[in-house]
Amino acid sequence: MSHQSFLTEQIQQNRDAYEQLAKHIWNTPELRFEEEQSAKLLADYIQAEGFTVERGIAGISTAFRARFGSGSPVIGFLGEFDALSDLSQIENQPSPEPKEAGGNGHGCGHHMLGTGAMAAAIAARDYMVENGLPGTIEFYGCPGEEGGSGKTFMAREGAFDGIDTAITWHPGYYNTVWAYETLANYQVSFRFQGKASHAAASPHLGRSALDAVELMNIGANYLREHIEETSRLHYAITNTGGVSPNVVQAEAEVLYLMRGMTVKKAKEVYERVQKIAEGAALMTETKLEMTFEKACSNFVRNHTLEDVMNKEMLAFGEPDYTDEEKQLAKQFYDTLSESEIQNAIDEVRKISTNDVAHDLAATTIPSTPDMKRLSGSTDVGDVSTIAPTVQCYTTCYAFGTPFHTWQMVAQGKTSYAMTGMLYAAELMSGTAAELLENPDLIDQAKEELHQRLDGTHYECPIPPGIEPSKLQN
Ligand SMILES: [Zn+2]
Repeated sequence: MSHQSFLTEQIQQNRDAYEQLAKHIWNTPELRFEEEQSAKLLADYIQAEGFTVERGIAGISTAFRARFGSGSPVIGFLGEFDALSDLSQIENQPSPEPKEAGGNGHGCGHHMLGTGAMAAAIAARDYMVENGLPGTIEFYGCPGEEGGSGKTFMAREGAFDGIDTAITWHPGYYNTVWAYETLANYQVSFRFQGKASHAAASPHLGRSALDAVELMNIGANYLREHIEETSRLHYAITNTGGVSPNVVQAEAEVLYLMRGMTVKKAKEVYERVQKIAEGAALMTETKLEMTFEKACSNFVRNHTLEDVMNKEMLAFGEPDYTDEEKQLAKQFYDTLSESEIQNAIDEVRKISTNDVAHDLAATTIPSTPDMKRLSGSTDVGDVSTIAPTVQCYTTCYAFGTPFHTWQMVAQGKTSYAMTGMLYAAELMSGTAAELLENPDLIDQAKEELHQRLDGTHYECPIPPGIEPSKLQN
């Protein structure tokens, strides 16, 4: 029996349990670092499967590690389970309607991400045991991916030290091995403290914090022209200092997200923005206070592992969908705007000449070493700098469904989403099986990482003392 058929059998025979788990997490959407129920569901399940579970690792109550076996190689699966605010939506309904007004929703498919990665860890363990292979299988419960950089905080505390390879995935709308490089980022809040005064009677006595925020943003917008093309900076004014124009605003705050191709480049942008903030404070005679929220590293690709996963993808073959599933997906596809669909087509064309089917595209796009696309940031980047890491995308949504939207929440419990989740579990466990059988591939992957890092080692971009931050409402 090939390892593919063994793993498919192991995963499919537990299909009901995995579907229930994912749907349960979907029903209990919890925001970053508050995922108590979601983390417990997964930790309890894998513990009952015979893994040893350590909860609350890295000082984060919802982070955990499940371990089976001993010795090398150590293969770690990464699972997320956090939801997004204000995205509540009725399941399977192709029109926007919150299930609970103002409630949270799984608009990035992390209810499947955690469950699918856990299913992969269990199947890989079964394969290891069945064949008497040496090694350790680990599953990491990774909280706070959305705006929280949970894995970066975990990495800072050494949670991933000792793993030889990390494997994960993300739900998407076509099947491919992840061949993207992502940007490193820094998220820092700049708070200005001034002095209130009557804006008409005694403006000369006031020192405006809002002026400082505005001047800082003007400076940052001028800076844009003088940073590298691949660097990015965005901001949100999180405190305007009040609603009264006749009061000189005594305090105001702006949150900056600064990105670059590497931690070093993101930091360069951050340091220049910091000078602009200091300049704004000087100009307005306000006091500046900076709060470092989080940072994450860029994703380091590993062609050795991509190659292994590509072969698994081709060996497992694409999942089939029923006409009913295709019809439901078509209803969601029809809610997308022309530009949203065009955006998805453009995205695929950047990486492939394959013709992408519409509606429910089970299209597989094998990755190649020269495929490269920058795309936002992810805290998987930190893990990829510590150990060679590989991930896949599988079709769980109608083609073109944008991330963090009601359409993504609504499709989170469809049978085709569940199929995509278990397909990802097959690809991930297949990759692990191949590595368990050929540990020399892990040595190659490690050597590749070593070369890519050019002699440098992982350095956590989040300084000591900074605590993970929950979402402020
Ligand atoms: Zn996500």
